[in-house]
Amino acid sequence: MVKFSDLSKVNHPYSEELKAVASEVIDSGRYLFGPKVLEFETKLKSYLNSKHVVGVGNGLDALRLIFLAYIEKGDLKKGDEVLIPANTFVATILSIIHAGLIPKLIEPSLDTYNLDLNQLESKIGPKTKAIVLVHLYGRACWDDELLFLAEKNKLKIVEDNAQAFGAEWKGIKTGVLGHAAAFSFFPTKILGALGDAGAIATKDEELADIIQKLSNYGAGKKNHLSYKGFNSRMDELQAAFLMVKMKYVDQENQYRRILADAYLSHIQTPVIVLPIIDRPKTNTLHVWHLFVIRSPKRDDLRDFLLKNGIETQIHYPIPPHQQEAFFEFSHLSLSITEKIHREVISLPLDPSITLDEVKFVADHINNFTA
Ligand SMILES: *Cc1c(COP(=O)(O)O)cnc(C)c1O
Repeated sequence: MVKFSDLSKVNHPYSEELKAVASEVIDSGRYLFGPKVLEFETKLKSYLNSKHVVGVGNGLDALRLIFLAYIEKGDLKKGDEVLIPANTFVATILSIIHAGLIPKLIEPSLDTYNLDLNQLESKIGPKTKAIVLVHLYGRACWDDELLFLAEKNKLKIVEDNAQAFGAEWKGIKTGVLGHAAAFSFFPTKILGALGDAGAIATKDEELADIIQKLSNYGAGKKNHLSYKGFNSRMDELQAAFLMVKMKYVDQENQYRRILADAYLSHIQTPVIVLPIIDRPKTNTLHVWHLFVIRSPKRDDLRDFLLKNGIETQIHYPIPPHQQEAFFEFSHLSLSITEKIHREVISLPLDPSITLDEVKFVADHINNFTA
C-alpha cells in the first residue's frame, strides 16, 4: 500500500531528537513566552532573510492577524476589497472575512493553478486595497512587476506561504517577496510541527509590533491593553520541534524535487495533465507540497489507483464559492476554478515516499485507460 501521507514515517528519522527537545521543554517549566519561540523566530528570520518574524498559533491566525494589524495601523479599513485566487484553500478566504474585509475571487490560470499575473491589473477596482498571492502546491507565484503594481495602485501584497516553505523566486524565498506573509506549520505542511503553529514575516516593523500585541490579547506593556486582540501564540514545544525539523527542510525539499522529477519523467499518458514547470524561465524553486495532476476521469482514476494499493487525495473537492458557508459567492460561475476542483488529484509525495513507490504509482497511471 502506498499511503498518501504517513506522518509517523515522515517524523521517524527525527524522533530521537524530537523526544530530546520535548523533555527539555517539559523540564524547563516554560511552555509559553520562553526562549524557544524567540530562538525559532530568529532562525526563521535568518532562513528567510526577513526583517521581522512573529510566531503565532496557526496559519489561519497568521493571515487574520496580518489583515487585522493592517486595519489597526490604518493601511486597510473594514470593507476594503482583497483579491484572491478562487481556487485557494478556504482558510485564505476566512481570514479576510474574519477581519471585516471583502474577498474578491479571481479565476486562476489552468497552467499554474495560481493567479494569472498578466491579468491581475484588470481585476483591480476602486475598492481593491490588497492582493493575496497563494503559493499553491509549493509553487512560487510572483513577478517583477508586482511591487510596482502595488505601489501604483496603493495595494498591500500578502503572501499565503502555507504551502511553500523554502520555495524561491530568483533566489529570494517566498515569504519575503510581498509586504507581509503568513506561514502554517500544520503537521502535513512542508515544515510541519507536531500540532498547530504558524508565523508571520514582514519588513514592516510597526506591523510586526501590532501583530505581536494582537496575538496576545492586544496587550502592550504589562497590564495595558493597546488593542482588542485575541489569543494566538506559538508554544515552546512547537518552536522546539520546528527548530529540529528546520535543520532538514532544505534537504527534504531537494528530495521532493527528485520525486517530482521522477513523476514528470515516468508518467507518460495522454489522459493526464502533468504540472507545468518553468524553472529555467522564471528561476523558481518549487517545493512540491503537493504533486497535482489533472484528469477529466479523475474519480475513475482515483478508484483505479486505490484498487492497486495507491492512496491519493483531492485538494480540494469543493471550490470555495460552492461551499455552504460562503453563500455570498453562490451566484458566481467560475469555470476554470470549477474545472480544477473537478479534475485534480494529488499523488503521494513527501520525504517518506521512495523513488520505487513513485515509479510504481507512475506505472499504474500509465496503465489507466480512461
Ligand atoms: C494550511 C493552509 C492554511 C491554514 O493553515 P492552518 O495552520 O491549518 O490554519 C492557509 N492557507 C493555505 C493555502 C493552506 O494550505
